[in-house]
Amino acid sequence: MKIQSRRKTLSVGVGNVLLGGGHPVVIQSMTDTPTADVERTLKQVIELIEAGSEMVRLTVNDDAAARVVPEIIARLRGRGTTAPVIGDFHFNGHTLLAKHPDCARLLDKYRINPGNVGKREKHDENFAQIIKIAIDNNKPVRIGVNWGSLDQELVTALMDRNARRKNPKDSKEVTYQAMVHSALESAALARKLGMKKDKIVISVKMSVLQDMVTVYSQLAKECDYALHLGLTEAGADVQGIASSAAALAILLQQGIGDTIRVSLTPQPNVPRTREVEVCKAILQSLGLRYFAPSVTSCPGCGRTTSDYFQYLAKDINEHIQRSMPVWKKQYPGVERMKIAVMGCVVNGPGESRHADIGISLPGASEKPVAPVYADGKQLTTLKGEHIKEEFTAILEDYLRRKFA
Ligand code: SF4
Repeated sequence: MKIQSRRKTLSVGVGNVLLGGGHPVVIQSMTDTPTADVERTLKQVIELIEAGSEMVRLTVNDDAAARVVPEIIARLRGRGTTAPVIGDFHFNGHTLLAKHPDCARLLDKYRINPGNVGKREKHDENFAQIIKIAIDNNKPVRIGVNWGSLDQELVTALMDRNARRKNPKDSKEVTYQAMVHSALESAALARKLGMKKDKIVISVKMSVLQDMVTVYSQLAKECDYALHLGLTEAGADVQGIASSAAALAILLQQGIGDTIRVSLTPQPNVPRTREVEVCKAILQSLGLRYFAPSVTSCPGCGRTTSDYFQYLAKDINEHIQRSMPVWKKQYPGVERMKIAVMGCVVNGPGESRHADIGISLPGASEKPVAPVYADGKQLTTLKGEHIKEEFTAILEDYLRRKFA
């Protein structure tokens, strides 16, 4: 099955990164440290960027946070890190951006939630104030509608209008309509205030996969703004990863989405960078972007005689992670390479031949030898106690020959 061509959108410059307009899907993440704690926030921003996050968002929730944003960004730039930094504003963004002009000047993008900028006439006034500051500083904005903070006045108005219809729609459909309406009306208001179209990114995040996919699909039909995709509050661990991957894959497969974030509930001893790793894995699984060689490894079954193939697959994966900073420079294109680590003769030789390089370990009642394949042909056969070291050496030699 072929991925559909990317939906045509305007290209939005965020710092030195381009979103939409056919540019590769950009990975972003968000810190969970109190922003005012400069040392912890800076450390986490650097970790996220080093893990592959191409933009990082910070909460700017009070004066203390807004006051330290310039220091965080200056120290990042001072160490040569150019990734855009985005400010996440709710309730008081208009005040903070006005009170802290350096914060407004140095952030690369502002996230505005139309459900959290005030009520009635205050809503429009506060929203206009943020948009004016963004225009004055030549910054793009993300109009980020969220199901959990959807403008309730808008929902009530649409529900009332629906109730008066001859054939009222299902209330869920009205909610979808409210999400899209809130995003597009806010974008229209920003345009009316003088913001250029290519300064606007939109998101309509919901926490239930089918709702999120439906609402983004509707939004994509109705506009050509660049879209930020995310399943909000996706959950923890396997649930969060699986539901985010499924939701993003459905949309990305249809060519919808210009930047993605995976929102995982933090787990004890699991680094925040996990959300970036998941984004990379999603994009690479879809063949949209490549970050590191992929390892095809079998799940094991009753034919596997030992857990050696598990350790070999793990060691090869770790070797790739460790080596990628150097390989990226030495071996251009290495990120597209495929390596197979298989457990028996059933699929081992086949998968190994399909990969660039692969090894098929012996299964139950097979001779204790491990044929190695490169570019579809058997290269050698390994046996004995040092298969891992010998296979790693063959892999390194293959890289030198093919990619140097
Ligand atoms: S390759 Fe062999 S060991 Fe691995 S899952 Fe398939 S049959 Fe089992």
